[in-house]
Amino acid sequence: MTPSIDRLLQSIDAKRDEVVALTQDLVRIPTINPPGDAYEACAHLIGERLARKGFAVEYIRAVGAPGDSDSHPRTNVVARWQAPHPGECVHFNSHIDVVETGPGWTYEPFGGQVANGRVYGRGTCDMKGGLASSIIACEALIESGLPMSGALEISGTVDEESGGFAGVGYLAERGYFSKPRVHHVIIPEPLGVDRICLGHRGVWWGEVETRGRIAHGSMPFLGDSAINHMSAFIHLLETQLQPRLQGRHTAEPVEPPGARVSTLNINSIHGGQVEQRYSLDERGWPKGDLPAPVVAHLCKAVLDRRFIAEENLEAVKQEIVDMLEELKRTRPGFDYGIRDIMSFVPTATPKDAPVVDATARAIARVLGREPSYIASPGTYDQKHIVRSGKLRDCIAYGPGILDLAHQPDEYVGIQELVDSAKIMALAALSLTGSTP
Ligand SMILES: [Zn+2]
Repeated sequence: MTPSIDRLLQSIDAKRDEVVALTQDLVRIPTINPPGDAYEACAHLIGERLARKGFAVEYIRAVGAPGDSDSHPRTNVVARWQAPHPGECVHFNSHIDVVETGPGWTYEPFGGQVANGRVYGRGTCDMKGGLASSIIACEALIESGLPMSGALEISGTVDEESGGFAGVGYLAERGYFSKPRVHHVIIPEPLGVDRICLGHRGVWWGEVETRGRIAHGSMPFLGDSAINHMSAFIHLLETQLQPRLQGRHTAEPVEPPGARVSTLNINSIHGGQVEQRYSLDERGWPKGDLPAPVVAHLCKAVLDRRFIAEENLEAVKQEIVDMLEELKRTRPGFDYGIRDIMSFVPTATPKDAPVVDATARAIARVLGREPSYIASPGTYDQKHIVRSGKLRDCIAYGPGILDLAHQPDEYVGIQELVDSAKIMALAALSLTGSTP
């Protein structure tokens, strides 16, 4: 190791308290999504800090995007530091939103308490710890006095937990994740300090509707129940589609291994009248809103189909349509509608891509072991960077244990924060072309 690299890594060790304090400051802003609380405050905390370090800072509100309103503005922050010598740009992208706290906490969810060598709180792991590490990594590089080339960018973006359309999706459509501005992207999601996430499975969300005919519930034979039709469709999903999906294996290293096959989840189902809230009083009489007796003329189900790199989106949808068509041929009165809600194809950055190679070498140097390569069962903001930004050189890499995301007593390990900051700094040094 060269003396200057040694000094860089030592300077990050010396920032241990600083990365903890920054994680705590970020966690103490409760950016819960939905509805998208406190985004402005969090964006400004990041932007004002980086402006003091010499970054050019932009706040970009996703006006007109889903969820944006004056009471809940979708405010993103993008900060860029231009090095004195020409080179390529490395962008660290973190989402600033967190999910609701839910029950079961023994630590203060937005307290950022330190115990057992960890920082606890909602968002410590997913992913404000990773954001803090990336900020410390870039600041250490800038302060190092090393001959830097290219540019460093850090963004804090909104709404990843709800699809990222007002966050990375909005920015990617406007060139923030494309060449020539940006060449390499690292997303510090909590995949583990020695794991590189190359991409994710594909997703198709669709809504299927079955139709019937309304009648009096005491004479159901005079109507035609849309719920019964839906149940016939669900029966086919269970008995025909599910076994087929279980037989489709991907060559991608998806973690956990249970997700190396295609999967289907019925996200929600609703048929007939809206849900009623009633109870019985002391006499045993019903009170509240009572249902009226009708045969359901409409039933809707939302399907969440995750597909592997070896499948294609058109075939995934056609397979569902074929089952509905089969029911239309064989089941009297069966009628249906189907519509797309959202879809993204699988992404997989090649193992020999520059960002993968640089991060792998940095992991080996800092931790003294080879990284493992994984892919994610669910999508994350990489989908927008690939689709709208047309940028392939993108990975997810960051501190934290993925299983803790969205759980009570979520935490991130302090040593992991420091180690991943070192790894991000070394990767950025090499990707910008600054290696001394
Ligand atoms: Zn996340």
